[in-house]
Amino acid sequence: MSDTEFEIIRRYFQRQKTRRSDVITGIGDDAAVLHPPTDSELVVCMDTLVAGVHFSQGTAAAAIGHKVLAVNLSDLAAMGADPLWATLSITLPDNDAAWLDEFSRGFFQLAERHDVQLVGGDTTRGPLSVTVQVHGSVPRGCAIHRSGARAGDRIYVTGSLGDAGLALCLGEQADDRLRQRLDLPEPQIAAGQALRGHASAAIDISDGLLADLGHLLAAEQLGASINIDDLPRSAAFNAAMQQSANAHPEWHYELPLSAGDDYELCFTVPPQACEAAQQALAAVSVEATAIGVIEAAPGVRCVNAAGEDYRPASSGYQHFGETP
Ligand code: ADP
Ligand code: MG
Repeated sequence: MSDTEFEIIRRYFQRQKTRRSDVITGIGDDAAVLHPPTDSELVVCMDTLVAGVHFSQGTAAAAIGHKVLAVNLSDLAAMGADPLWATLSITLPDNDAAWLDEFSRGFFQLAERHDVQLVGGDTTRGPLSVTVQVHGSVPRGCAIHRSGARAGDRIYVTGSLGDAGLALCLGEQADDRLRQRLDLPEPQIAAGQALRGHASAAIDISDGLLADLGHLLAAEQLGASINIDDLPRSAAFNAAMQQSANAHPEWHYELPLSAGDDYELCFTVPPQACEAAQQALAAVSVEATAIGVIEAAPGVRCVNAAGEDYRPASSGYQHFGETP
């Protein structure tokens, strides 16, 4: 490793304020030494963002730093885990001080908020690519999985759907609230923690509700019925749909159903646990909306408030075992 790479690590990645007491050795040795919580299970995941594939060259460095950690924390959230530590592997085309400063600022701002400590990583030269691994924990046996849903369970989503998708569709015309949903997604850590012991299954929505709910259903070979008029849409979404000349009316349903990048949680709850689940979420100020019910017959049926069938335009629904 060259002097510049040591200097990059020291200047940009060793400057975190958060120091967790369970980190015995962090950045600077051959490996990190960590003290896992007792009576817990470790929950580990990893995600990579590649320039030109997952973000365009023009994306703000701070947004990339935020997002690469956020998408990982979102996976921990879906498991109901408490975040602990992160490692970061970064491949850089050059030593761009301004870019590194912004990237690490975006990364650490989110890390501080969730008490996650960066404990190590790797720094190499090449086409821009960033990989983060996060480690979390759950009390033994308490992780929430994609499997576990049963016919009759209610289906919920946190927050609102379609904002990030609408920001993508509107491009320059998207207002700051929508842009923020796309560039700075907020991992639903508190929701995941609150759902431990209540949710029968959960998944985070990265590829769109239909696609991700499809994974949850596939895990148990079940189906679902969704009321498309119950899908939660934000005030910013509704305002942009009314005011933007470029907004297509069908986006009202299509984006909440099929657009990705919202990083909300989709989860299922047995009927008798719904009240307790709602209370646990309210206690951490998380809004969740009931959007449908798990059914024994495979496939997703979308109906509107009038009870009429709705066939999603996007190919997303093919994930659901429905015969075309
Ligand atoms: P080694 O050569 O022993 O594999 P390195 O010289 O690559 O170690 O890294 C030195 C130290 O800096 C290690 O503790 C490593 O985990 C840490 N590190 C390297 N790159 C990063 C990074 N991008 N973010 C955080 N820590 C890093
Ligand atoms: Mg070494």
